[in-house]
Amino acid sequence: MKITALAGGIGGGRFLRGLLRAVPDAEVTVIGNTADDIKLHGLHVSPDLDTVMYTLGGGVHEDQGWGRAEETFSVAEELAAYGAHPQWFTLGDRDIATHLVRTQMLAAGYPLSAVTEALCDRWLRHLPGRGVRLLPMTDDRVETHVVITEDGQSRAVHFQEWWVRIHAKVPADRIVLTGIESATAAPGVLEAIAAADVILLPPSNPVVSIGPILAVAGVRDAVASSGAPVVGLSPIIGTAPVRGMADAVLTTAGVDVTPVGVAGMFSDLLDGWLVHESDAASVAPVEALGIRCRAVPLLMHDVDATAAMAREALDLAEGVRGGQRNET
Ligand code: GDP
Ligand code: CA
Repeated sequence: MKITALAGGIGGGRFLRGLLRAVPDAEVTVIGNTADDIKLHGLHVSPDLDTVMYTLGGGVHEDQGWGRAEETFSVAEELAAYGAHPQWFTLGDRDIATHLVRTQMLAAGYPLSAVTEALCDRWLRHLPGRGVRLLPMTDDRVETHVVITEDGQSRAVHFQEWWVRIHAKVPADRIVLTGIESATAAPGVLEAIAAADVILLPPSNPVVSIGPILAVAGVRDAVASSGAPVVGLSPIIGTAPVRGMADAVLTTAGVDVTPVGVAGMFSDLLDGWLVHESDAASVAPVEALGIRCRAVPLLMHDVDATAAMAREALDLAEGVRGGQRNET
């Protein structure tokens, strides 16, 4: 079975780890968000690609959900001693090795997709089963910027600065994807969508993780026109994200912070949507959008619980397969 998933960082990575546990023989392709990418101290950092890579490869800091396990911060301390900026984003020593390899390869002319493949050769090659292929959504530079008003002045900051330094405490007036107009899908992305037996939207941030991937030219159309069932899992339980500040970006996007609101963002794509068991009241409103919906446990406590979520998603996909899609 060929499964193609669109993924951000923590929500995407954790879900995918459960998916691989649930169906080790599946051929999984992950299309990763690169709009969080940022240049720091001259290094090209790809936070979401790295979170997925470290999580699936067994190198992630488990409690934190991102970054490397058993990390040290000597370089960050030395940078701070020089007064080097920015100081709101701390890079760990082990993590820096990844960014050094990436930055060097990019400078040598390799596209991000080739760099990602090279980095994943270390982390994902030895996975059991068919393993997983991680593709950046694009080789072009796309960045999520957030327009905020500070001291009466409107200015755009990189999403990472808004998220990490400002903690999303200053409301986002607008969210802008710089570079998206000219970005094209990375090699293999549209092909992986077209060839998929199932397309999954993990419980990733719908606005700043899934949104940028779908905004790359051709991607949303490819998902919409693929014959494969498209099933997503809600990152929102009740009226709040399970972790992080997705509520802030949903509000900016004018979307209700509910499992129904998020389903509505993708109603042109979704055949199935999973909501948390406590959100059973959302099933009918989601189905009113023409999307098959089930309420099941959606907390990724551990890999087994996450694998069960993946099985539910595939089961729902099986249920809508073969032209039995819900019609509005
Ligand atoms: P990021 O790029 O690291 O922010 O990660 P993603 O975009 O992939 O995922 C972030 C989303 O994951 C957040 O909106 C969370 O609500 C969601 N999330 C995290 N843990 C869980 C969980 O256990 N269950 C569900 N349903 N969503 C989760
Ligand atoms: Ca992210």
